[in-house]
Amino acid sequence: MSEADTIVFYWQDFANWFVTIPLLAQILLIIAAFAIIALAIILVYYVLKGVAYLIYYLFKGLYYLFKGIGMGIYKLGEALYYAISGKQKPIKQASVETEIKEQFIQVKTPIGRSYNEPSRISFCNECGAKFTRKMNEQLNTKGQVYCVHCGNIIYNMPIDIVS
Ligand SMILES: [Zn+2]
Repeated sequence: MSEADTIVFYWQDFANWFVTIPLLAQILLIIAAFAIIALAIILVYYVLKGVAYLIYYLFKGLYYLFKGIGMGIYKLGEALYYAISGKQKPIKQASVETEIKEQFIQVKTPIGRSYNEPSRISFCNECGAKFTRKMNEQLNTKGQVYCVHCGNIIYNMPIDIVS
């Protein structure tokens, strides 16, 4: 007797028995059968979902593992590079300090520039007299000067405004 024949035999046996039992028992048996099938489907669904999550986290874990190994190799290579070349490894804090300094300079520059650069004002705006060298010097160092001809006060305006 083959396996298929055995199943058919048991099914026929079951069918013969099934028709002999009362109707209520038949209905309950059918409901029970559906409940078992439904539970089996749910179980399979969760098992598959679990397997999918497992695979997902496995790959995620592998990704971070390889990333970590990659970073480790990179850091090792970097350390070796600095060790062999004898160069000083730039410290991050230093770059931050430089940034702050740069910002500080950027803020200060507009004020410092107007007094340090040679003035472009070469004529008095009151009497029209040409500036003397001394006047220009004072204008550049102090930011303001009195005209030697008319006594008008001349301010060294920022170059951006003058030009
Ligand atoms: Zn003047």
